[in-house]
Amino acid sequence: MQPFTYVGAPSRVVFGFGVLDCVPDEVKALGCGRALVLSTPQQAGDARGLSERLGGLGAGVFTDATMHTPVEVTERAMQAVRASGADCTVALGGGSTTGLGKAIALRTDLPQIVIPTTYAGSEATPILGETKDGLKTTQKSPKILPEVIVYDVDLTLTLPPGLSATSGINAIAHAVEGLYTQDANPIVSLMAEEGIRALGAALPRIARDPSDREARSDALYGAWLCGVVLGSVGMALHHKLCHTLGGTFDLPHAETHTVVLPHAAAYNAPAAPEAMARVARALGVTDAPTGLYDLAKGLGAPVALKDIGMPEGGLDRAADLAVANPYWNPRPIERAAIRALLDDAFFGRRPGAIEETVHG
Ligand code: NAD
Repeated sequence: MQPFTYVGAPSRVVFGFGVLDCVPDEVKALGCGRALVLSTPQQAGDARGLSERLGGLGAGVFTDATMHTPVEVTERAMQAVRASGADCTVALGGGSTTGLGKAIALRTDLPQIVIPTTYAGSEATPILGETKDGLKTTQKSPKILPEVIVYDVDLTLTLPPGLSATSGINAIAHAVEGLYTQDANPIVSLMAEEGIRALGAALPRIARDPSDREARSDALYGAWLCGVVLGSVGMALHHKLCHTLGGTFDLPHAETHTVVLPHAAAYNAPAAPEAMARVARALGVTDAPTGLYDLAKGLGAPVALKDIGMPEGGLDRAADLAVANPYWNPRPIERAAIRALLDDAFFGRRPGAIEETVHG
């Protein structure tokens, strides 16, 4: 066994069907009495319903959470925090809403209850990405880590099949990189492999029947594990590429992860055979990169950057940006190989497909 350091993140997790009912008690357990409920405009109805349920513990709602946490939205939310006298926040939604709660916590250190309704995993991390003047920067702080996570499986039943697939693979991406990262450790690797297994089995069942409650439960459990991986250990090429593509070309978050993951895995596979064997075992396949590609394709998720808004003329710039700032990766970052990876991802080729064509 390699030497390792393991740090457990201090957060309380409540998981189950219908556990939204526990939110008033969770507010009180934090020693709070005025909770501001956050959501996107699309989930404003659910946020208002929760605020009503909070009764006297509610401090109102702010329903303008936006993808990539723009600072101007946070500033408006901060006015709502001050005007309402809120002493904690309750973020109900996906990574965008969680991001707003984290941005408020960074500025105020108010305790956060997060109720995730996608599989993004942000609720389990001390990481915040914020956008200012079109530039996305990421920071890490103990203030950012939510105090309480309430996973109510029932809230995920409305997650549309398309977003369920891409959000689920976004979660799997955290676990894949967590298995080969330089600060991997045995506990987090167990979570990573189990997270991939749970999601890999649940997502096809959800695609067939989005109202399958057991499959939804398994997927949310897997998403939590993958989120813990993201919050516990470092990431590498895949997350760097997605951050660059999302930030520079405004590509949708979960879809970008879905398209890039098989290609990032193929790039790193020669340098990370043990991690890839674990990914393959978790998915029940013999080869991790093609297994990841086939999972996405089988779910009807996008597999090509050209189909999610990437301009072909931007591939050279993306390759330049991806190699601009050095960072750790199991396989050294080489521009020509990264450019080839981006080409494969742009056209949605199955990893290894070129060799298969040449040789057979
Ligand atoms: P999202 O939060 O933007 O949600 C997408 C849309 O789906 C929104 O309109 C939302 O209201 C809606 N939605 C969410 N759950 C729903 C449900 N159950 N039923 C119906 N509609 C629902 O998408 P996301 O992929 O969860 O989050 C992406 C954002 O999260 C990005 O900004 C990304 O950078 C961030 N993120 C951050 C971290 C981190 O650790 N900091 C980790 C993962 C993602």
